[in-house]
This record gives sequence, structure tokens and C-alpha cells, in this order.
Amino acid sequence: LFGKSILETQIDIFKKYNIDKICVITGYQKEKINQALKKRIVGIEIMTKIYDEDNVFAKILKAKIPYEKVLENKYALAFNDINPQAPIHILVIPKNPYTDLYNFTQNANLDEIKCFWELVNNVISKKVIEDNGFRIITNSGKDGNQDVPHFHVHILGGKNLGRMIN
Ligand code: AMP
Repeated sequence: LFGKSILETQIDIFKKYNIDKICVITGYQKEKINQALKKRIVGIEIMTKIYDEDNVFAKILKAKIPYEKVLENKYALAFNDINPQAPIHILVIPKNPYTDLYNFTQNANLDEIKCFWELVNNVISKKVIEDNGFRIITNSGKDGNQDVPHFHVHILGGKNLGRMIN
């Protein structure tokens, strides 16, 4: 939380607010925590998504497994999807650990966000799909059927992709 470990944060909060017990601390719901602290709530429980350091894209970023690089910049990497659903199927991921789009937008700095979308545009230019069109998808969480818990967008193109959801 706020760049500290959960334990450090808990100790700080205990000291500052004389709190007896705190249950679960989330990494990115500062507002809820602040509200709870203002009301001197003894225990707060907020669901959180902890970044899984062993996910497959984390391994790609650490060069532990092979991948087909398309492009990269300071903060983002683009590579071919291993199981393409269209003639062009490229994934773009941030290099820093974010679980999903919401987590990325909440926590990434403007430089990272700019670099990420610049890389998306550079992939679109490189694959020359700006005129014929393309689809960008990001899956998030359970209802989004997200398989890999590191934020990514799918860039799909190279054919007519049909209706959005079947
Ligand atoms: P999602 O369901 O949005 O999380 O999509 C995860 C995507 O990652 C799927 O399209 C997979 O085919 C793709 N994928 C999984 N492992 C790899 C890998 N090692 N290299 C490239 N793409 C992968």
C-alpha cells in the first residue's frame, strides 16, 4: 500500500490511529481506507487483487520463457499471441506489474500510460491496419474471463472480425 509492504503499512496505521486490528489492506483503494480511518473503524475488509509474480507475462518480461517480440518501448512490450484468433493477434503489456486495466489506470504514472498507448499505436502502424481496422480487447477478472493476470490488450486484425460478442 502506497509503495510500502502490508506489514509496514499496518504498523504505521496502528501507531498513527491507535487501531487494534485491521483485516485486509488493498493496494489501490486508498479512498475507502481513508474513509474508514477517519471514522476510526477498527477492522476493514476490502477485496484486493494481489499481483502474481509467477504469471506467464511476468516470465516473458523476465525473459524466462521465449516469445515473439513485435515492438517495445521504455514502459511497454508487444508480442505475438501464442494462440492467435486472427491473422494479426498481438498483445501489448506494461512492463510494470499491473493486474488489469483498472489497476493500471489507477496506479500507473502518466508517462507509463502514454508509453503504453503509444506502443499500441506503433503496433497498429507497423502492421498497417489503421485503414482496414482492428479490434482492441482487454479482459478483466472473472466476468471478463481474464486468463493471465498481468494487464494486457489484444490487438486483433487482418480480417473482418465479425460482431463483437457471440
Ligand atoms: P486473456 O484471456 O485476456 O488473459 O488472454 C491471455 C492471452 O495470452 C491468450 O490469448 C493466450 O493465448 C495468450 N498467451 C498465453 N501464454 C502466452 C505466451 N507464452 N506467449 C504469448 N501469448 C500467450
